[in-house]
Amino acid sequence: MNSLKKQLSLSIFLVLLLTVFLIGILSNWFINREFEKYMTQLGIERRENVVEELSHQYDSLKRNWKLDYVHAIGMNALYDGYIIKLYDIGGNMVWDAENHDMSLCGQIMDEISVRMEERGSKGGFVDNTYELTQNGKKTGSVSIKYYGPFFMNEADFDFINVMNKVLIFIGVLSGICSVAVGCLLARRISRPVTKTAYIAKQISEGNYNIRFEPGTRIKELDDLAAAINQLSDALGKQENLRRRLTADVAHELRTPLTSLSSHLEAMMEGLWDPTPERLYSCFEEVKRLGTLVADLEQLARMESENLTLKKSRIDLFSLVKVVSETMNGEIKKKNQSFQMEGKPVFVEADKDRISQVLANLLSNAVKYTPEGGSIKVLVSETSKYGIIKVTDNGIGIPERELPLIFERFYRSDKSRDRRTGGAGIGLAIVKSIVEAHGGTVTAESSKEEGSCFTVSIPFSQGFQ
Ligand code: ADP
Repeated sequence: MNSLKKQLSLSIFLVLLLTVFLIGILSNWFINREFEKYMTQLGIERRENVVEELSHQYDSLKRNWKLDYVHAIGMNALYDGYIIKLYDIGGNMVWDAENHDMSLCGQIMDEISVRMEERGSKGGFVDNTYELTQNGKKTGSVSIKYYGPFFMNEADFDFINVMNKVLIFIGVLSGICSVAVGCLLARRISRPVTKTAYIAKQISEGNYNIRFEPGTRIKELDDLAAAINQLSDALGKQENLRRRLTADVAHELRTPLTSLSSHLEAMMEGLWDPTPERLYSCFEEVKRLGTLVADLEQLARMESENLTLKKSRIDLFSLVKVVSETMNGEIKKKNQSFQMEGKPVFVEADKDRISQVLANLLSNAVKYTPEGGSIKVLVSETSKYGIIKVTDNGIGIPERELPLIFERFYRSDKSRDRRTGGAGIGLAIVKSIVEAHGGTVTAESSKEEGSCFTVSIPFSQGFQ
């Protein structure tokens, strides 16, 4: 299998080479064609010029030709490749280049033929006769022999050769540039791809800290780098969470299990009498274990369902009412006062999940508020959110702990009292439900003065 870099450089190189080749061939063909046209036209003009000049060399008064001038014109034309024969009106020869210098004519004609044949010209020498007139009267004729349809002298050949050399030079230079550009471009594209493969492999081996620095200057590749980084972040977080969860669960289970086993052991060995109080304490531990398992089950269920929400239009106010009624028993037991304020506020939300949020917040309020305390729920709305505030005047939460309480298994030191505290999962569940709705949950508290939890659920939300 060929590498991406090799394939890319090869394709870019071939495309550029083909382009350069085509441009070279076409421009060469075009320049040659135009040049030939130009030379043909130049030939016609040169011959017309000779005819014009010769026609002036007849002296109509003396009725003879100015031979010196004719000779000069004829020789000049000969050096340019035109062999001239001048006849008078009676058809008698006046001046003939071949007669004058046979060998020079032969030499010039040979040179032209050889040069033109080398160039691949299929032309040959042609003879054209032109009438000479003066003031509209015929004075004679001239026959001009030349290599047709056009021919080129040495300077013209030099010009064409230089042109071709320039074209070849441009072609070679473009070829070299195309190789360089092809390699560079291929490198720039293939390097991040190779790096992505390397990073993906590192991630699959559990190295989540590896980072892909964007900066390829190619948007798609930078996006790819960002996506890979996000993937490694997400996987890293998941992995951390999994490890922490296992460690936390083990820790949570160990304490009640140790106390249970030591109590039971003492009773079995007869060190302790199995009094109802001791049995009750064991029962409490078993209950704690039951609660912990139930919490874990709930967390697992929520995560396995990936929080798909069954949304409907619900009234937050009546929901608070329903949920708080289920807490009535506990509230009365602790002799607490419960107060509800606000008005019906309708949002699009999952009724069961929001009930769960309310139940967790209310049960925390009851749990962490001493006997005789008060709990207040306020339902209100802003332009975008339906808002529920659960306020109590209980033990409060130290400020430094506020950012931590929504973490799984976090319990403040105070609530580590096993009789009141749960496993520290309740608020984590609240947070994930509220965030799945696109909302937020925040906690405020002044120590010893109680706490206030604010849940905001948006009225409308984009795609889930
Ligand atoms: P837990 O099962 O321990 O109640 P949560 O996740 O519901 O777990 O709460 C985490 C911690 O946040 C609690 O242990 C407690 O320290 C603190 N907390 C929660 N709600 C309140 C509240 N209303 N008043 C004081 N502290 C609270």
